[in-house]
Amino acid sequence: AGPTVSNSVSLLKRWGTVPLWGKILLGMALGMLTGIALGEHAAYLKPLGTLFVNTIKMLIVPLVFCSLIVGITSMQDTQKMGRIGIKSLGFYLGTTSVAITIGLAFGHWFAPGAGLSLPLPEMASSPVQQAPSFVDTLVAIVPENPVAALAQGQILQVIVFAVALGISLVMIGERGRPAIAVFESLAEAMFKLTDLVMRLAPYGVFALMAWVAGLYGWEVLQPLLKVIVAVYLGCMLHIFGFYGLVLALGARLNPLQFFKKISDAMAVAYTTSSSAGSLPASMKCAERVGVNKRISSFVLPLGTTINMDGTALYQGVCALFVAQAFGVDLTMSQYLTIIATATLASIGTAGVPGAGLVMLTLVLTTVGLPLEGVALVAGIDRILDMARTVVNVSGDLVATSVIARSEGELDTRVEA
Ligand code: ASP
Repeated sequence: AGPTVSNSVSLLKRWGTVPLWGKILLGMALGMLTGIALGEHAAYLKPLGTLFVNTIKMLIVPLVFCSLIVGITSMQDTQKMGRIGIKSLGFYLGTTSVAITIGLAFGHWFAPGAGLSLPLPEMASSPVQQAPSFVDTLVAIVPENPVAALAQGQILQVIVFAVALGISLVMIGERGRPAIAVFESLAEAMFKLTDLVMRLAPYGVFALMAWVAGLYGWEVLQPLLKVIVAVYLGCMLHIFGFYGLVLALGARLNPLQFFKKISDAMAVAYTTSSSAGSLPASMKCAERVGVNKRISSFVLPLGTTINMDGTALYQGVCALFVAQAFGVDLTMSQYLTIIATATLASIGTAGVPGAGLVMLTLVLTTVGLPLEGVALVAGIDRILDMARTVVNVSGDLVATSVIARSEGELDTRVEA
């Protein structure tokens, strides 16, 4: 037995060196094989997956609450830079809602989850069945009691309260500082906790994938491939179609030349899956495009924190994928809710790898879709993350250029 023991020890050691996304991918692949091998018996593994889903659920409310407040209060400078801040915010929110609409459209056309018909977990079924009308949803987004909203996990209400509180904290200036510091520290801790929870992902994904593959065999692979194709095509349309148009009309720049000039930042974004990590490269590229530092040094970091078009687009595709996979018909008001939530959620998404996946749970929760869906997507998330980060980073650079042009701070004579 000697060699077997040392073999498994070295296997364990090697497992420790695999990056998280690799482990998750492996977890998915092994889960799939296990499920196919065990068939229906793979359902015994499901509690392990449920445990993982519960730990994700545990994060949502505090994570969203704290990180949104921090996102809002980090815009302290918007007061000083008033006009530019408001322009950026409007630009970011506008382009993000276009992105999520593209995501929903692609999710609809590709219908990656159609035909999977997974059994709906009991708890999630009630809110879906009695989906309120859009007007009701609108009226109910202001919480009567914010503490109750937090306790019951009413995410939309939590978001509204967090935004209002964040704005008020900025408005009281110096006196807001101590509270902001508390939220910053809490948000930091929640990011850490998210990080720790994500380390459980390979095992949770393994168990849930085994359960699904036990039910459906190889057929589950095709829907996941479709999700990848839908997200990639959606990202390309958003970058080369929508941004191309915005660049030509809004910044009077040649889109082709522009994308050539920012290709470094795009490559860094694709390989690191982190818009925060791509910021130095973006700064450099903005200079190459001819944006004055006065603009880019404010608009780019702001965009890195709050502008996530790729993430919103991905959430649109994935929300529909999950709805289709669990056979849930979404109402018009649920679609609108997805657009609103994903747009707001993108403000609270950190520019680090995998953050969008956690925020997907938020979108799913708001419209009452089962969180088990997150585990389905988790296996392929890194592949999707790479593409959506490229969109996030390009979007920040497009915004910077358009705003620079409108401020007369774009010097197109700059040589690449
Ligand atoms: N990785 C993305 C970014 O840094 C965020 C996400 O996970 O969607 O922009």
